[in-house]
Amino acid sequence: MNKYKKSKYNVSFEEDNKVIFVNYLTRAIATVDKEKAEMIKEILREPNREWKEEYKKLKDDLIYGGYLVNKYFDELQHLKMLNYISRYDTSSPVFTILSTLQCNFDCVYCYESKEGPSMTQETAQEISDYLCEIATKKRKISIGWFGGEPLVNFDVIKLINRNVIETCDKYHTDFVSSISTNGYLLDEDKAKYFDELDIKNVQITFDGPPQYHNKYRPLKGGKGTFETIYNNTKRLLEMTKETHISLRVNVGVENYDKIPELLEMFDDFPKERIRIYFRWIFQASEDNREFYAKLHEFKGLNSFKKISKFYIEAAKKGFKVFFPILTQNRYCEYDSVSSTVIGPKGEIYPCTVAIAKGAVFGKVTKNGIEYEKEKYLYWHKPDAFEDEECKNCKILPICMGGCRNARLQGSKGCPEEKRDVEHFAKVWYFTKTLENKCKICEVEK
Ligand code: SF4
Ligand code: SF4
Repeated sequence: MNKYKKSKYNVSFEEDNKVIFVNYLTRAIATVDKEKAEMIKEILREPNREWKEEYKKLKDDLIYGGYLVNKYFDELQHLKMLNYISRYDTSSPVFTILSTLQCNFDCVYCYESKEGPSMTQETAQEISDYLCEIATKKRKISIGWFGGEPLVNFDVIKLINRNVIETCDKYHTDFVSSISTNGYLLDEDKAKYFDELDIKNVQITFDGPPQYHNKYRPLKGGKGTFETIYNNTKRLLEMTKETHISLRVNVGVENYDKIPELLEMFDDFPKERIRIYFRWIFQASEDNREFYAKLHEFKGLNSFKKISKFYIEAAKKGFKVFFPILTQNRYCEYDSVSSTVIGPKGEIYPCTVAIAKGAVFGKVTKNGIEYEKEKYLYWHKPDAFEDEECKNCKILPICMGGCRNARLQGSKGCPEEKRDVEHFAKVWYFTKTLENKCKICEVEK
């Protein structure tokens, strides 16, 4: 008979007379009444007893959900394989391209210089040649546009996406594109190209309702931007067929109580095509120490708990929410040899945050990318599976080792979800449950 042991990644909590069991590795979520929960706890304590009837059925369910695993199953090794596949799989490269380092905004907390070069047509052509060559050999290729403000230099976006789409069509390679924009320049004239350019995901940031957003994210010169961005977002959704919008909501000291007001305003958007996530204004630049210190104090020790209420509020209103930490088998998209950040001069950065620090570690050339090997290897060196704290961490399956940029600068890079793993499981459970309820409502309508 097979022998079993308890998974290392089980978390449980009580809610409304129910007990919820979550497994971070399989991402199973099970809700049971208190009586069954006691039976489950008994089985988890002694998984190899001769369980009969209802207990036997429950034990089978626990095995199915990964709460119980074969005695010889090495969960850590399994996770390591998932993580390594995600980090070293090269079948579907992802390119983040900065069309410019210039920006039309003057956000109070911004960490980028807002000045700097824009990509020339000549450099764009070289990058496009390189990407087209890659597209002939791969299963899928993704291009994400970033800046500065990428729409300041829309012509190179058109040039590169069109060329790569043409090659992908010819070689039956899947293509997907996205853009991270402040949304201000996303007028009708640009929106009409989004379907043709296959830009299917657009990330736009709001810093609360107009009075706060306009204070934090003004144009250079100080003019407010909320109304234009809001109208542009709405129009883009009307003018495109499949474009989805990821709304990033930045939360800070002053706008904290006003986020529900912003969610009310999002009610005008088609809910099935937007998803929302919340972030502290984390890049409160070290140059802006006062801003940073206030926020740090406000967030307190359990910052995830404090921000998590917005996930629940948004889900209650029928919005899809997402937790960036749950999206892949690595901490962030730059935690992979397949992810490349290309600057406006064809220079290569390890990740989008490292741009501000000028951490260039390679360049696109006519022969492909030439890396500065030492720096490249150093970036990819941190490994959660060689770190005792990570190996014993309950949320290793969703975190996979934290931010490597932070690690390389000497801190651990744990996400705020680590501060209260049970609370994270709760928020995740609530939002999932609410999403499923909404799906049922939609069917019944
Ligand atoms: S939360 Fe921290 S300790 Fe846990 S896996 Fe992530 S980086 Fe490692
Ligand atoms: S700073 Fe860390 S989490 Fe952010 S993009 Fe860079 S590596 Fe990823």
